[in-house]
Amino acid sequence: MATKTHILALPFPLQGHINPMLQLCKTLVTKGFHVTLVTTVSISLSLQMQASTTSNLIDIETIPDATNTSEGDMYQVFINNFKAAITQGLPQLIEKHKQSSYPAKAIVYDSVLPWTLDIAHQLGLKGAVLFTQPCTVCSIFYHIQQGTLKITTEDDGSDISLPAMPLLRLRDLPSLIYDKGPYTTLLGLLVDQFLTFQEADWRLFNTFDKLEDEILKWMASKCPILTIGPTIPQLHMDDNDYGLSLFKPNAEDYMKWLDTKENSSVVYISFGSMVTPGEEQMEEIARGLVESNCFFLWVVRAEEESKLPRDFVSEKGLIVNWCSQLLVLAHPAVGCFLTHCGWNSTLEALSLGVPTVAMAQWTDQTTTAKLIADVWQTGIRTKADENGLVTREEIAGSIREVMQEERGNEIRRNAKRWKQLAKEAVSEGGSSHNNITEFEIQLSSTTT
Ligand code: UDP
Repeated sequence: MATKTHILALPFPLQGHINPMLQLCKTLVTKGFHVTLVTTVSISLSLQMQASTTSNLIDIETIPDATNTSEGDMYQVFINNFKAAITQGLPQLIEKHKQSSYPAKAIVYDSVLPWTLDIAHQLGLKGAVLFTQPCTVCSIFYHIQQGTLKITTEDDGSDISLPAMPLLRLRDLPSLIYDKGPYTTLLGLLVDQFLTFQEADWRLFNTFDKLEDEILKWMASKCPILTIGPTIPQLHMDDNDYGLSLFKPNAEDYMKWLDTKENSSVVYISFGSMVTPGEEQMEEIARGLVESNCFFLWVVRAEEESKLPRDFVSEKGLIVNWCSQLLVLAHPAVGCFLTHCGWNSTLEALSLGVPTVAMAQWTDQTTTAKLIADVWQTGIRTKADENGLVTREEIAGSIREVMQEERGNEIRRNAKRWKQLAKEAVSEGGSSHNNITEFEIQLSSTTT
């Protein structure tokens, strides 16, 4: 029996980075590859395994955590410790596999871990880099890395013109560029994605050709790339789950609650795995939801719950700490997604045809909100007041606009069209489907 080609996968250990990597791994497993997901011991302890048959076929191997804890801001410490663990442990793991009957041939690694490529190449493996943010956003960081976009914090109100992109205002750029605050480390991490870009054996993007047509062509003119998205389980296989989560989901009573609601009558609200709105903003969201007079299902992570207004209850709302977002977005009762515009949430809404209220908070989300509102027109973007707060009136008004008003009909039509285009991209003959097949053929013929 022919042995399966063994591929390692190294995600950055945040939910929004793990999910697309997992889906890619699952796709490779269904095509006959042996896939091992690599992470550190401490991260593996937080991973909750979901009952997905395919994800159970992916091996997970752990690397000991770094013993020297680094100093700096919280992001710096996290990133440095992860890097130290991987740079120490990955070569040993690869060597161990070399002695086995299934040596690894290649590694798929997250774009914010560009140094992985050097380790892979030194040990004779090929390297595929996976970008988990929109190509539009990645290309902005590419410009910074190349020195063709200067970082500025001054908003003089003028348009920013970059090749193959819509005109942008300063506040449409990823927020880390104009609002660095304590996030210099994160800006560095994103700019450094391009350190080994040219040397990678494959450059994979979680997007699809029609979604970011012009900018993808521009990026491909710098170096060949493969679009492989959207990496949403429902599009690729009969599956509703990525398979692993860093958060413990609530029991699925919320699905029963959704079953009792009419079609398109519920607003789903989630700000993903990292965003931490202030107490004042949480109160505006809570009051805005009530004022919209719609049913709502709101994900408030356990550590954020104390920020809810005291004694907040609404007979029209249900609050959970974590849910299966894919199941929720696919439920016919959900009529609108109030989102922080994380790239996975955005692709999930788009692929499942759910209109959005885009309430971007930081990093790539600000640029994605611009694309949602002005380019794909699958939602509307909330405006903040002079204090940076999105008020209850703004939130309620935006929800009503999408759920009930004339503009909502147009947005729903667009959402339906993009759902169709996303499905086509990953179906037989579609651009992402062809690219994944091409990637698989090249991986299978890889010799080390
Ligand atoms: N998610 C989930 N349950 C929740 C909230 C979020 O499964 O209750 C998933 C969501 O489907 C998405 C991921 O968590 O795949 C969040 O990634 P995204 O890029 O949207 O945001 P981030 O967490 O990186 O800010």
